[in-house]
Amino acid sequence: MMDLKRVNEYMERVEKSQSMTFQPVGSKLKVGLDLGTAYIVIVVLDEENNPVACEKKAASVLRDGIVYDYTGALNIVKELKAKLEQRLGGRELINCAIAMPAGTDSSIKTHSYVAEGAGFEVTNILDEPTAANSIYQIENGVVVDIGGGTTGLAILKNKKVVQIEDEPTGGTHVSLVLAGNYHISFAEAEVIKQDYSKHKEIFPVVKAVIEKMATIVKKYVNPKEVDTIYLCGGTCCLTGIEKIFEKETGLTTIKPDNPFLVTPAGIAMNCEAN
Ligand code: ATP
Repeated sequence: MMDLKRVNEYMERVEKSQSMTFQPVGSKLKVGLDLGTAYIVIVVLDEENNPVACEKKAASVLRDGIVYDYTGALNIVKELKAKLEQRLGGRELINCAIAMPAGTDSSIKTHSYVAEGAGFEVTNILDEPTAANSIYQIENGVVVDIGGGTTGLAILKNKKVVQIEDEPTGGTHVSLVLAGNYHISFAEAEVIKQDYSKHKEIFPVVKAVIEKMATIVKKYVNPKEVDTIYLCGGTCCLTGIEKIFEKETGLTTIKPDNPFLVTPAGIAMNCEAN
């Protein structure tokens, strides 16, 4: 079972590291770069994996996990890297780990080129749900990462990832449904969706999209072998999402208080710093 208290405390500090810079322990810094469909995030940890600093920016430079606006992505990564270096008193960030949705092999190079173009040396490349499990540390079950563009999952057996899947339904689709229903722009829909006080009201409108995400997980998971779903990714911030997953799949569904930055923090944990 996942130690929910430990995860919640750790993620709270990652959240805090967006506005506060923590003094790193030791001499090495570990960096995780998450190039997402909705956000680009950089998390900095110290060599004992304590969160040090984090910067993020909303971006639409990827589609279905693939970088399609290289220059746009590069400029944002450079900007976030510079901000972090300034927060760290001018210290240069060198090594970083990156991740990508499972099954998008062709994008590996573009992700690396963006990181390298911004001045990083890429020391590790992993898939997103595996990165998330560096935080969760579950031995058996399925980690489900629902970001902006896709629903990704990693099935774990005895601490090993035995299956990875990824399908294109994510938070973007939730926003599109909201925009259509309320006759508002996509940007306005995003604002409403991220407002926790509106979650109850929008729930009936977005329910079908969440059910679709749960169906994706159900398709790949054998309930005889997997009994628990562990949620992460920005879209899992939606209040009550875990209840729909439980109803659709019949599996116990667990999510931490803040599932948003789990994957980028997990990516950083896998950076080999020197
Ligand atoms: P992907 O992994 O698909 O490439 P990503 O890495 O950008 O995308 P995340 O950063 O995990 O994905 O999540 C971004 C999504 O989470 C966006 O669709 C965003 O609207 C949504 N999101 C963020 N905060 C909230 C919130 N409070 N409530 C609902 N949705 C949210």
